[in-house]
Amino acid sequence: MADQHQLLVDGAWVDPAAGEHFDTVDPATGEVLASVAAAGADDVDRAVTAARRAFDGGAWGLAVPERERAEKLFALATLLRRDVDELARLETLDCGKPLEDARWDVEEAAFMFEYYAGWATKITGDIPPVGPEALSLVVKEPVGVCGLIVPWNYPLLMACQKVAPALAAGCTVVLKPAEQTPLTALALGRLSIEAGLPPGVLNVVTGTGPAAGEPLVTHRGVDKISFTGSKAVGQHIMRLCADDLKRVTLELGGKSPNIVFADADLSEAVPGTALGIFGNQGEVCSAGSRIFVERSVYDDVLGGLVDEARAVTLGSGLDPDVTMGPLVSALQRERVEGYIGLGKQQGARLAYEGTRPDHPALAGGFFVPPTVFETDSLDLTIAREEIFGPVATVVPFDDVDQVTRMANDTEYGLAAAIWTRDIGKAFAAAKAVRAGVVWVNDSQPAPSEASWGGFKQSGIGRELGPYGLEAFLESKQIYVKLA
Ligand code: NAP
Ligand code: MG
Repeated sequence: MADQHQLLVDGAWVDPAAGEHFDTVDPATGEVLASVAAAGADDVDRAVTAARRAFDGGAWGLAVPERERAEKLFALATLLRRDVDELARLETLDCGKPLEDARWDVEEAAFMFEYYAGWATKITGDIPPVGPEALSLVVKEPVGVCGLIVPWNYPLLMACQKVAPALAAGCTVVLKPAEQTPLTALALGRLSIEAGLPPGVLNVVTGTGPAAGEPLVTHRGVDKISFTGSKAVGQHIMRLCADDLKRVTLELGGKSPNIVFADADLSEAVPGTALGIFGNQGEVCSAGSRIFVERSVYDDVLGGLVDEARAVTLGSGLDPDVTMGPLVSALQRERVEGYIGLGKQQGARLAYEGTRPDHPALAGGFFVPPTVFETDSLDLTIAREEIFGPVATVVPFDDVDQVTRMANDTEYGLAAAIWTRDIGKAFAAAKAVRAGVVWVNDSQPAPSEASWGGFKQSGIGRELGPYGLEAFLESKQIYVKLA
């Protein structure tokens, strides 16, 4: 029988109140990996109550010396590094990505705890001048109990991107992983106990969005929701948060432009462009899914991209030769295949369509091979909607004005990549593109020390770096009359 997992509430592993469970599967084979507790409103209430008690009762937050908070976070980072092999394997099994990529995720998750452990002792305020007769202190305090809701494409990394700054700020948290990929969040919970986090500081509730996520969003004991996921669910969550004016941070989707100018170093630009759309199976919010290529190098770039697609080895992420794993679920495969069908139907030219792996052991897997479309029309559905799979749409352009107009012709604004040797052109384009992250001569790096988040409908707020910490802090002004 598959392992059965419980919920982490108040430092203890507990069964879900309704006694229900669901399966998580290996997307490379469709086989069941484990049975996981299906939390409902009662379980979420227990978790929030525990987090509330830990915050209000002084087990965490302002009552705990900053050094002690930092020590616990460093300890958690050390444990993540100790278990990197096991965690990477678990991540690959649960979400499908190649093992080497999963390993990078775990190492970056560990770094995230180190980085924010450092911040825990460096959160300072301000002393604005308010005249000779008073002293005004603006101090930073943790926002309180936070509900953290994360997606399945970087399960551990997206969780730690929220958990680490929240705990460093002094908040206590209830983490709800995506139902498709709960296993590394549960492992993080186990390690948090070993690291000595007091009970209630980090609670993990597994379950579906409607049954476990929504009661967390509407719970009056939660001060803030930090959400990463789709635009539609983000909009719904924001509406629910309006009821009690909960703080909310949203990291949503994208349809990011990847712009290749004719003067770019194509030996870098072509593989970088391919990584931008085929990396992590294309299940990346910042994927460079709209590829704009200056007409004079169009054939070279398109040909190069097709060669890169052809060179992809599709298969189980555990196989060291594999460079692209399965998509996370049968539903996600259906969605992506639906977009490929729409692309053909609406008249996009198919430049390349790969084949599924033929190994019988992988027959039940959720594979979608890399696909490259060409079009001149940004009106096509594949050029407008987020596909979240390895499907590239390549569009030619003639000049800078035209390409910046096309790049900005989207409701999203998460990221953009610009490939050129001309520094002036690079900066001009970087300024003109309305996106929260712009890469010049690279695609997809997301250093934890910098900033991450979207313009327009790609979200509200920022994660990573000091900005990610700020998202879990409130300012309080203390005004002292001196005279
Ligand atoms: P999703 O369906 O929005 O799910 C995200 C999370 O929200 C999951 O944990 C989900 O739970 C939960 N959820 C669903 N309905 C909910 C509700 N009514 N109330 C509370 N929580 C609810 O997104 P996804 O399909 O998993 O992920 C893909 C999307 O995430 C893409 O649009 C992508 O661009 C975006 N994304 C953005 C970033 C970024 O940094 N901007 C990073 C990664 C992904 P269940 O899955 O358990 O139902
Ligand atoms: Mg799974």
